[in-house]
Amino acid sequence: MKNQKKFILEESRIPTHWYNIQADMKNKPLPPLNPETKQPMTAEELSRVFAAECSRQELDTQNRWIDIPEEVMEKYRYYRSTPLVRAYALEKALDTPAHIYFKNESVNPLGSHKINSALPQCYYCKQEGTTNVTTETGAGQWGAALSYAAKVFGLEAAVYQVKITMQQKPYRSSIMRTFGAAVTGSPSMSTRAGKNILTLDPTHPGSLGTAISEAVELATITPGCKYALGSVLSHVTLHQTIIGLEAEKQMEMAGEYPDIVIACFGGGSNFGGIAFPFMRHNINDGRNTEFIAAEPASCPKLTRGVFRYDFGDEAGYTPLLPMFTLGHGFKPANIHAGGLRYHGAGTIVSQLIKDKMMHGTDIPQLESFDAGILFARTEGIIPAPESCHAIAATIREAKKCREEGKRKTILFNLSGHGLIDMPSYDRYIDGDLQNYTISDEEIIRNTEGLYKA
Ligand SMILES: *Cc1c(COP(=O)(O)O)cnc(C)c1O
Repeated sequence: MKNQKKFILEESRIPTHWYNIQADMKNKPLPPLNPETKQPMTAEELSRVFAAECSRQELDTQNRWIDIPEEVMEKYRYYRSTPLVRAYALEKALDTPAHIYFKNESVNPLGSHKINSALPQCYYCKQEGTTNVTTETGAGQWGAALSYAAKVFGLEAAVYQVKITMQQKPYRSSIMRTFGAAVTGSPSMSTRAGKNILTLDPTHPGSLGTAISEAVELATITPGCKYALGSVLSHVTLHQTIIGLEAEKQMEMAGEYPDIVIACFGGGSNFGGIAFPFMRHNINDGRNTEFIAAEPASCPKLTRGVFRYDFGDEAGYTPLLPMFTLGHGFKPANIHAGGLRYHGAGTIVSQLIKDKMMHGTDIPQLESFDAGILFARTEGIIPAPESCHAIAATIREAKKCREEGKRKTILFNLSGHGLIDMPSYDRYIDGDLQNYTISDEEIIRNTEGLYKA
């Protein structure tokens, strides 16, 4: 069909395996280390905190394809496949010869891609006899997804939400509570980690780091309780590859193959999810697709961070992860893309950057909202403030195509919608938002003393 707008896979064509890029990487990511012994963590050690199957997946560098359990497939079919959409109106507004496609991960009841990993994580927990899951959430998308997935598989969920985003985005905690989760603002007095933070700084606005510390502590001291993480770790990104595997089939339906793949970057799960299935053709089949991760200029771990062994959280509960980081003590500026306020990148992505398989680009806050508003006014979808970063990076590339007269095919991931983030849009429209930068000195100060990889 000419000018087809959407490409939708029938349910019978939804991929039945996730893609594990670790099996194809020439240089494997360095292993996570036990912080005390500095020895590589085993899956068994990891499974004290995480589901055993997720711990195995985390360290799996052998198996390229991982079966999606049938029970998870059944729940995926509630909202998958998601549409691949050609952004004709955006192309027209930019007067670009580029063809722009986006994968719309906002079309599920929770409104972001996070549900793709929440479902398998809760399924494995249930299988392994766990009764409770706990987690942290920033902007609230992960907490919302986990609350729903916990309910679906019959688990109790306790969510620590970053205090500042709880105030900025109040409806996300309403969603979590509607699905039956217990929601606490972090830092809180309910854990030792929270108490320590509040003693030092009673007005601490919270960060993903503080919330992770509290959730990990709860999982460690509560019998039958596991911790579930919504980003950063390799098994989370593995589950998200359903996005790129679908997109691969859908691009084929459109008769195109992407020259550039773009996603926004917090800890890397939606980026890896859409990018890795296409990257396997760069590794194995001589393709030359360019992969761009769009991060906020106020939290630039990919473009300005250092490669070190660092904790995934502020209090130092997680294993030491080899990654590009701004330091686990880094307090990102209070930007509205709460899901991108995270100090480090995942271990796979960090290795891929070292190997020049992909690169980061940093987007100032105002440019991100500019892009989001143009997208809303052309394509009719209000994007999550996080996803606005991917759109901004896409617009930069599309403008470059116009200047150079090149007709590239660009695919980006629309990781979520912004319908619960409207106060942020109000503030942008009213001219109340600003850009933030951080100095080299600040980065050096935050990263000195980290364990060298
Ligand atoms: C959480 C979130 C992100 C950032 O997390 P990644 O793991 O980097 O994908 C981006 N977009 C949305 C909508 C999110 O909810």
